[in-house]
Amino acid sequence: MPYSIVESCVKCHACSPACPNGAIYETTAHFMVDPKKCTECEGDYADPQCASICPIEGAILNGFSEVANPPGSLTGIPPEKLAEAMAEIQAR
Ligand code: SF4
Ligand code: SF4
Repeated sequence: MPYSIVESCVKCHACSPACPNGAIYETTAHFMVDPKKCTECEGDYADPQCASICPIEGAILNGFSEVANPPGSLTGIPPEKLAEAMAEIQAR
C-alpha cells in the first residue's frame, strides 16, 4: 500500500531524493507520491524514508491513510500543549 503526501507538505524537497524508487515528485500544490512506484521502501530500508525525513507532522500518510508522523511525534509537544507553547513563544 503506497504512502501519500497531503496538503500540509511545505515543499521542503527533503523526501524526494531520499526515496529509493524515485516515486516522489513536485507539483505546484505540494509533493506527491506515484503509487505505482512506492514500495513502502520494502527491501531497501527498514523505515519509509519519506516519513523518516519529513519535518512536518501530518504531511505524509501511510498505506492505510494514517498519519505517519502524528502531532507531537516530531516536536515532542503533545497536541494539547501546543497552543500553550505557541502563545509562550510569541510572547517572547
Ligand atoms: S515509502 Fe519509500 S518508496 Fe514509498 S514514497 Fe516513501 S520513500 Fe518512496
Ligand atoms: S519532506 Fe515532507 S514537507 Fe518536505 S517535501 Fe516531502 S512531504 Fe513535503
